[in-house]
Amino acid sequence: DKKELFAIFGNPVEHSKSPQMHNAGFKKIDFNGNYIKHLVEDGNKIKEIFLENSYKGANITVPHKEYAYENADEVRGLAKDIKAVNTYINENGKVIAYNTDAPGFIKAIESFGGIKSVLLLGAGGTAKAISLALQKEKIEVTVLNRSENKLDFFKEHNIKCYSWENFQAKKYDLIVNSTSAGLKDEYLPCNKKLLETLFKTAKFAFDCVYGKITPFLALAKENNLEIKDGEDMLLYQGVLAFEYFTNTKASKELIEAMRKGLKEG
Ligand code: NDP
Repeated sequence: DKKELFAIFGNPVEHSKSPQMHNAGFKKIDFNGNYIKHLVEDGNKIKEIFLENSYKGANITVPHKEYAYENADEVRGLAKDIKAVNTYINENGKVIAYNTDAPGFIKAIESFGGIKSVLLLGAGGTAKAISLALQKEKIEVTVLNRSENKLDFFKEHNIKCYSWENFQAKKYDLIVNSTSAGLKDEYLPCNKKLLETLFKTAKFAFDCVYGKITPFLALAKENNLEIKDGEDMLLYQGVLAFEYFTNTKASKELIEAMRKGLKEG
């Protein structure tokens, strides 16, 4: 039997942990697949690259998720509204696209339990996916972003949204950082006083950044919130993509094998 080929498309892509996560999954279920890194510079060539290299499936990361959406033959599920995709599948020569970041986030916050309201910091691609996923789950979501000009998407989808200038703190169960503040720097995603006010009434804090305690999570912990970084979100977007890749339902054992793969090296 021929090995099926999979890839992560991004720029940069060298740091990606998706290959080790998916290859660990393939091994666990004896699936004859190989998952590699593929640097893509021109996002408009993404479908061409996918088909030319005979990939069975792929994941798409920064900065190509919108291009991947535009170039797909068919977009399924919530991705149609998000207008960005992170997963491609070759179905009989047709490129089918999904967004698994959105349901991956919902799986990741399940462990908190009983969340009814969320304040989402940031208004980038990740915030779009998360906000629509929460809306679909009927969890009340409010977006708060540094700049006003990124809010149109949320207004169009009837999601409450504010910029720093016109926001007033309320009580939210969960505060989510989906900004890139804290990723490569030591910034908080918004004013410290405001965060401290929010943390007084919130129970949980989640940061999409993974593999480090960001200043946001550190401050939340100081204020006795239950915290979680982005590892589970990365894991579950991968697990959901893996289910499409292999046409199988992920077992608990498979998920743990993929988590172990993610944490290697
Ligand atoms: P985008 O570039 O699309 O959006 C960035 C957002 O961050 C914007 O809203 C921007 O605000 C805001 N921002 C940037 N710097 C600051 C700052 N210093 N203070 C306040 N706000 C700031 O990024 P993405 O949505 O693609 O990604 C966001 C984060 O999520 C990244 O850290 C990424 O690594 C992480 N991520 C994690 C995933 C996982 O699986 N765990 C999956 C996907 C993403 P403005 O509009 O004012 O510029």
